[in-house]
Amino acid sequence: MLAMSSLIKNLESKFPDMTFAEGPRAHWSPDTQTVYYDPKERHADWVLLHETSHAALNHHRYVRDIELLDIEREAWSYAVEQLAPQYSITIDPTFIETQLDTYRDWIHSKSTCPHCQSNGFERQKHNYCCPHCGSSWQTNIGIDVGIRRVISSR
Ligand SMILES: [Zn+2]
Ligand SMILES: [Zn+2]
Repeated sequence: MLAMSSLIKNLESKFPDMTFAEGPRAHWSPDTQTVYYDPKERHADWVLLHETSHAALNHHRYVRDIELLDIEREAWSYAVEQLAPQYSITIDPTFIETQLDTYRDWIHSKSTCPHCQSNGFERQKHNYCCPHCGSSWQTNIGIDVGIRRVISSR
């Protein structure tokens, strides 16, 4: 397995249009075309390949919550099939499932009515409505945003 620094060098030459920068939280920033990575986090190389995949697939940050899971799955598939083999990295499928489960839980909690706990539906992007009590509420999330908050509150 490549060290993190040589993996980044390799990715920089493969994707010359992207910037790779160390950040407090791994994520892809479409605004600045920058992939942020956190070398101290667990499986930082897998996460880096995942974020690079969001970039390579040109994912925008703000999508409907219901699309998030597909986008996450797509970025992991790309990382596993297109990127990891080039660097002799094997991404554990269990790790990916855990990440996707976290998204599932997170989306579920976002879609739960804050007043009556019924399951709401996403009427517009990040705007939910409760079919039971008529409440509506906003969420403000996108790809890889705030996900760590959910993990740490468990
Ligand atoms: Zn992601
Ligand atoms: Zn309700």
